[in-house]
Amino acid sequence: MDAEEFRQRGKEMVDYIADYLTNIRTRRVFPDVKPGYMRPMIAEEAPEHGEQWDDIFKDIDRVIMPGITHWQSPYMHAYFPALNSYPSLLGDMLANGLNQLGFTWASSPACTELEAVVMDWLAKMIGLPNDFLHSHADTTGGGVIQTTASEATLVALLAARKEGIRRVQAQFPYLSPAEINGRLVAYCSDQAHSSVEKACLIGLVKLNLVPSDEKLRLRGNALRQAIANDKENGLIPFYLCATLGTTGVCAFDNLVELGSICERENIWIHVDAAYAGSAFICPEFRHFMNGVELTQSFAFNPSKWMMVHFDCTAMWVKSSAALHRAFNVDPLYLQHENAGVAIDYMHWQVPLSRRFRALKLWFVIRSFGVEGLQKHIRNSVQMGKLFESLVKSDARFEIPAERHLGLIAFRLKGENELTEQLLKDINSGGQIHCVPASIKGKYIIRFTVTASSTNADDINRDWNIIQQSASKILHPLDNLTPQERRNKMKNLHDDFRMSLVLSNTPHSPCLINGSFAAIFSPNTRRIYAMTHELSQRALKNSLLPISTRRRSRNFSVQPTLNKHLSIDGWLDNNEQQNKCLVISAPSSASISRQGSLDSRIEEILDNNSMDNHNKTNYEVLLTSSNDPTEHQIIVPKIVKE
Ligand SMILES: *Cc1c(COP(=O)(O)O)cnc(C)c1O
Repeated sequence: MDAEEFRQRGKEMVDYIADYLTNIRTRRVFPDVKPGYMRPMIAEEAPEHGEQWDDIFKDIDRVIMPGITHWQSPYMHAYFPALNSYPSLLGDMLANGLNQLGFTWASSPACTELEAVVMDWLAKMIGLPNDFLHSHADTTGGGVIQTTASEATLVALLAARKEGIRRVQAQFPYLSPAEINGRLVAYCSDQAHSSVEKACLIGLVKLNLVPSDEKLRLRGNALRQAIANDKENGLIPFYLCATLGTTGVCAFDNLVELGSICERENIWIHVDAAYAGSAFICPEFRHFMNGVELTQSFAFNPSKWMMVHFDCTAMWVKSSAALHRAFNVDPLYLQHENAGVAIDYMHWQVPLSRRFRALKLWFVIRSFGVEGLQKHIRNSVQMGKLFESLVKSDARFEIPAERHLGLIAFRLKGENELTEQLLKDINSGGQIHCVPASIKGKYIIRFTVTASSTNADDINRDWNIIQQSASKILHPLDNLTPQERRNKMKNLHDDFRMSLVLSNTPHSPCLINGSFAAIFSPNTRRIYAMTHELSQRALKNSLLPISTRRRSRNFSVQPTLNKHLSIDGWLDNNEQQNKCLVISAPSSASISRQGSLDSRIEEILDNNSMDNHNKTNYEVLLTSSNDPTEHQIIVPKIVKE
């Protein structure tokens, strides 16, 4: 392709994208494809000779679009928003054309300088204290664009770890960094994103998940208690990841309470405000971040709600010196005469190279203006309120956690299975797309307002679909006696005992370790159904997080399964518990291909020759090879039928 053809094809592509985004309401939001759908549509081998652009372009509609989840659709309510906008797309188009690697100031001065300026803009837009600004003379603070919130959490943890080790070494010079590292303990609430656990796995530090309060917030008392216990056990607290806007229900940890404790204890507070951070552009939502002046670093994703498309995580630190100490390697070939005077962002992040992401952020802020961005946020919140009022007007439903911003957690009153079935039904048509979560034993559906174009008609349409599904599910139960209803619910269990719970709680080492969990009855037919479902999930990378407490030495079933709330009701029932089998395959099992999990489970069953054990109270414990406490696999009391 030469420049002339690029001019033409580029314009065609812009038209294609504009048409796509304009007409997105006409598409079903979630695709109707099965795992593996694409392979038969594409050649087995890469083409030997270059192909015509026309042929390549045609395959977008033929191959790609059928398998696309339309994240920009107003009917997309799963996860959190991941919005784009035209100025953002143009910014990245330019960034891609220039293709800068802005690791040092000298590698591309504009790349670094724009980022510093725009990050100062953004910090002021959301009301961060001056300590976080590049332009503030009294600190070494400033902002940097990271790839993801997960990475920001990790970067902050690594910086905090370095600071913690330095602090302890100053006191006990004979201790090696490794010895100190082994005693470090980080904190977050039991509602924090799984990326905190991931960061701790990478940093080789312990993580203490502190229980949240009844409103799912992390409070000072709980943290104080956790710290006291850990210190008594010889551990060294060094890092807290506080969440503003949790993934489950958008709860806000109390920074004022946490901040004063952490200040005394020399604990680095990192704030993960991935979704909610964008809302702080509006002053009326800033009360959620009271106490932010007591924190050391703060991150949110303009790539979620601020219409800057992925990737773009805005992160600020009070001390860039701490980042430098954690990451500075400074080889000769990267040194330049302005080093130390100008910012070299390579010392603020894990990789060396970095994209020119500030451009799209700059374009978006300038093009919408603060006012335009506020309007967008307020519209989303307004739509969230509208949906909330619709749910409240229908007595069959409940809202088990307070709505914040554009996220509503709702469920059908009664058994978890009803809501589980409702979710399956509304998602199955592909007309709207939601994901579940579990809060304190309740299975909930998360409804997130996403697209900036979402209007009241869209919300009413979605609500109609949900109401119709609810009637379909509840109506057959209407005239049943309690006993009949219980029987009926049992049957629901059979169909819906598997659910995809959004893994918003870091209780799932089996997930972190890439292994799998399954629940099934010993009825063989059903095992096959489950393994099939699991292999489908394996392909889609959506795992069922059966939780195990990694530090627990006690292989009892109840504490383990308590955490997996969506099946709680099922497991609470003793009779049912006798029929349950939970397997979490060890991480060594490579399960990336369809079928391999089936064989893995068959193998497990074969090895334990279940068929030969025609008895009650059958119990098996399988563990990964190295550490029996790491992956506990429990097969409680199987009753052969
Ligand atoms: C979305 C989200 C994350 C993960 O964001 P990435 O940028 O994909 O890493 C982390 N924490 C919270 C609270 C989130 O909502």
